[in-house]
Amino acid sequence: MKAKFCQSCGMPMGDTDEMFGNEKDGSKSDDYCTYCYQNGTFTYDGNMEGMIEFCVQPMLDSDPTMTETQARGLMNGFLPTLKRWKTA
Ligand SMILES: [Zn+2]
Repeated sequence: MKAKFCQSCGMPMGDTDEMFGNEKDGSKSDDYCTYCYQNGTFTYDGNMEGMIEFCVQPMLDSDPTMTETQARGLMNGFLPTLKRWKTA
């Protein structure tokens, strides 16, 4: 079963395969989006805090009513539940 959200950045994947990244052999990833994951490797190689920094601006751009504090709060709550960042 494919992820509904990218398991690295939390981006919604939509109903098609288009948003999914690809593995080294060219097959689609079941877990990660094309921005995070290409040719079987993560395009972003830092920690979760860095990912949050990276995602705050696009979130603000996509929702003009959101404040930076709200965006950070959302990411801080959501990212730790994703496969890439889950520590347990
Ligand atoms: Zn992603």
